[in-house]
Amino acid sequence: MNLTRRDFLKTTGLTGVGLALAGLGLDMPKVKAAAKDFKLKGAREFTSICHFCACGCGVIGYVKEGKLINLEGASDNPVNRGSLCSKGLGYGQIPNSDQRAKKPLYRAPGSDHWEEISWDEAIDKAARAMKKARDENWKQTEVINGETVDVHRTDALGFIGGSQINNEECYQNIKMARALGVTYIDNQTRVCHATTPPAMNAAFGRGAMTNHWGDLKHSKLIWIEGSNIAECHPMGLKNVMKAKNNGAKIVHVDVRYTRTSKIADYFFQLRPGTDIAFLGYIISHIIENKKYDEDYIRRNTNAYCILRDDYKFEEGIFSGYDAEKHKYNMETWGYALGPDKKPQKANDLFAPNTVMSRMKEHFSRYTLDKVSGITGMSKEDIELAAKIFCEYSPTVMMYALGMTQHTVGVENIRCFTILQLLRGNIGVPGGGIDAMRGQPNVQASTDFGIMFQYLPGYLSFPTEKTNTLEKWTKASGTFRAKWLKNMLKAWFGDYATPENDFGFNLIGVRNSSHNDSIYGLFEDAYRGTVKCLYLCGQNPHVTNANAGMVHDGLCKMDTVIAQDIFVNETAEFWNRPGDNPADIKTEVIFLPACSYLERRGTITNSMRMIQWRMEGPKPLGDSKPDYEINNLLWRKIRELYKDSTDSKDEIIKRMTWNYSDDHTVEDILKEINGYDLTTGKLVTGIGQLKDDGTTSSGMWIYAGVYGDGEHKAQRRGQEDEGGLGIYPNFGWTWPDNIHLLYNRASCDEKGQPVDPDHKIVWWDAAKNRWEGYDVPDVGNRSAAPGTPDGNKPFRMTGEGYGRLFAAEYSDLNPNGMTRDHSYTPVDGPLPEFYEPVESPTKNALHTDERAQFNPCVVYPRLPEKQRIGTKDEFPYVLCSSGIAEHWCSGTVTRNISWLNELVKEPFVEMSHKLADKLGVKIGDNVKVSSARGNVTVKAMVTDRAQPLTINGEETHMVWMPYSWGFKGLSKGPSTNYITIDALDPNVQEQEFKACLVNIAKA
Ligand code: SF4
Repeated sequence: MNLTRRDFLKTTGLTGVGLALAGLGLDMPKVKAAAKDFKLKGAREFTSICHFCACGCGVIGYVKEGKLINLEGASDNPVNRGSLCSKGLGYGQIPNSDQRAKKPLYRAPGSDHWEEISWDEAIDKAARAMKKARDENWKQTEVINGETVDVHRTDALGFIGGSQINNEECYQNIKMARALGVTYIDNQTRVCHATTPPAMNAAFGRGAMTNHWGDLKHSKLIWIEGSNIAECHPMGLKNVMKAKNNGAKIVHVDVRYTRTSKIADYFFQLRPGTDIAFLGYIISHIIENKKYDEDYIRRNTNAYCILRDDYKFEEGIFSGYDAEKHKYNMETWGYALGPDKKPQKANDLFAPNTVMSRMKEHFSRYTLDKVSGITGMSKEDIELAAKIFCEYSPTVMMYALGMTQHTVGVENIRCFTILQLLRGNIGVPGGGIDAMRGQPNVQASTDFGIMFQYLPGYLSFPTEKTNTLEKWTKASGTFRAKWLKNMLKAWFGDYATPENDFGFNLIGVRNSSHNDSIYGLFEDAYRGTVKCLYLCGQNPHVTNANAGMVHDGLCKMDTVIAQDIFVNETAEFWNRPGDNPADIKTEVIFLPACSYLERRGTITNSMRMIQWRMEGPKPLGDSKPDYEINNLLWRKIRELYKDSTDSKDEIIKRMTWNYSDDHTVEDILKEINGYDLTTGKLVTGIGQLKDDGTTSSGMWIYAGVYGDGEHKAQRRGQEDEGGLGIYPNFGWTWPDNIHLLYNRASCDEKGQPVDPDHKIVWWDAAKNRWEGYDVPDVGNRSAAPGTPDGNKPFRMTGEGYGRLFAAEYSDLNPNGMTRDHSYTPVDGPLPEFYEPVESPTKNALHTDERAQFNPCVVYPRLPEKQRIGTKDEFPYVLCSSGIAEHWCSGTVTRNISWLNELVKEPFVEMSHKLADKLGVKIGDNVKVSSARGNVTVKAMVTDRAQPLTINGEETHMVWMPYSWGFKGLSKGPSTNYITIDALDPNVQEQEFKACLVNIAKA
């Protein structure tokens, strides 16, 4: 690229900048002006989507003689309208980077160096290593709860990654992994947003962000909690600023003052890990002061439903708790059912045992005194925040990892769902809950089930309790069994028939009580049972909590296969400074992938929009697109198994892989979309899928992306009838191109918009059909309001309502079979405040010791590696997160010189008061230690994180970025050597946002 350092600083507005930048992006005219010098004449133009934060910004690249010569924001893309932040623009260095691996590499056991090898050799070694680990460690049966279960899987092989590759590559990876019988399957969402899908699903029936960036302009209040959107999602902020310009108020709630606080009208600082206490007060305030939207909750929620009278909650523990297992039996968390097995409803909102009356009782304990003591906020601020929340409507709530990365992550987000349902803010323009994803394709890698507990489309992966299609259907419902059968048809083709349960039994079975997450994987590697790990675009050596555990696990494996753009810390773990490579006997195969600009495919952003990435420059050196590497790898694996007659290998032979070399990506996307097998035509949407084996769809929620043979992800239409910012003909949004999920809730019982000034969908009586500027979120567009199908605002929950209380509930078909089952978080049907596992104080809400921290958390799991620090030894609370200039593990950004110049090393931020106490000045080296390790970094002293008085004691919070390691152009210690790997019990996401440390001058 011809952009000079000076140009870069100028265009990003960074000349003379200190540690970090605001990153609101640069305007198209500025880029255009700079571009004049670039001699673009004769260059080929292509469009793509940015690599980083999942805002999904469009870029335009220019290629000359096979090389990228310019990269800028795409002005027709509604997400960013021509702007790019420093990271997005800085990526222009990557296609021509000298730091990239240009050939496959091999590190022999005990060696201290890499050797270049051919692709044939690399693929052969990788395929054979996977086969060896699988064959030598095959588990045909397992005794689970005293019963011998046919599990046909391997626990010796792990598959990690997917958040940085395209949709088609995610789909290839999950097919490969499941065919090999792998259960250790995970992607970066485990570490970032694993808590989001179950929390949203428990309330609304789907697990994703409810609305779209363009909708923000309708909000009157934008509530940002647990996110530094200005630095971590800059183009999300650009859309927020549109609302601010329209007069919206902005509230920022976080653990320190950031650039996001700077643009907010109100900033509230709380102690890390205490959001539930704060939000619990606001819920109580709404109920006590009747600030809920009574009409909305009557029409759309389970507020009037009556709960079982044996549901109890005492001293922080819900009914059904088994202290030995740290688990609940959820049976008592259900409704009082009528003779038709449907939830009974009361006429009076606060009749005994209604959801609303039990909520009132539950949250009344969150008094101003208690909440102030827990959070460190003043009572005045807490009350002010509650009043602001109730003053404006519609309100959108936006969050990121400040809410998700806790041992109560799911229940944190559940608070948002309750607040938004109470205030009538879901399914209406300007409302919603925006889960801001942090990796370019982390939304889709989750959609595609690159997580141990899912198959594509959020279908549960079989366990010992659901190891036949019949048992699976009973648990998940006939509604979802239809999608599963379509996936099995896509995977097993003609072999899948109703007679053989569509090949369901070819798929392995996991043990429901085993932790198959990336955390369980490295713990079992440390125990010696995981032999081979395949990583694709993920660097857990830097991004996992308690990273020392990752290193120790890698050292015990036979083979690590790393597919990435750069040789990162995980690929080169054997060369960690201070270690002796000769002692490490793991072989490592490195497969050089090319950058996103060098390959084509589709990608899904935070708002569920699927967009097309064109091919730009030629792959650097011998690097290859991931889809091509995947093809080579799978074809080799199949070749190795071609003569096998062993039943365990049948799935490998049966798994479809009908992708031409020239059109691999398009062929895969068509398979994902699905076919009518009777006509051979691509299906146009979910509604065309059948459960009798006459249709197929690799992932039902994307059915329609290639509808009518049109590649809808490629569309760039600018039409926006209604002016709602929807742009329905730009890309394609799952499901069914619905942009505002649950939009049926914006209409009354007659199907007419409650707010005619913001109409989005409506029942058109003349046409006998639901119409709208957005696709109506109804199961059947001809189902009139007043009919059962036309009156389900939250049609994806079993009840058809938004769930304030996440009751245990299965909706039954007339024949008694489960139609759909609603999700209930394992740690409670209502959120409850618990202290972080490492906390500086006692839980002020409960005296029961079992409720000090989340009673369902099991920690430590490996006591010699997972010590819980006490405040006597480690008196300060550490919170860690990202910054504008570096991203995730830093594998990419620390190889962009411009970004390194802006922020060149990690640091710890502390208040002046703490610095004075420690005798530390800005720039001093300090040692930050926890019960798991220590790092030495520079001190940054600011006023941004003030000490708080917690339950009567002054408490200091410090903050660190985490994106460093020993590789790349900018090196530095990894913060995650000190963070804690205590996990949310629903989804095994770690508590990055709160642990205890000590600090001393180094
Ligand atoms: S990093 Fe995020 S905000 Fe920045 S250009 Fe890329 S997608 Fe847009």
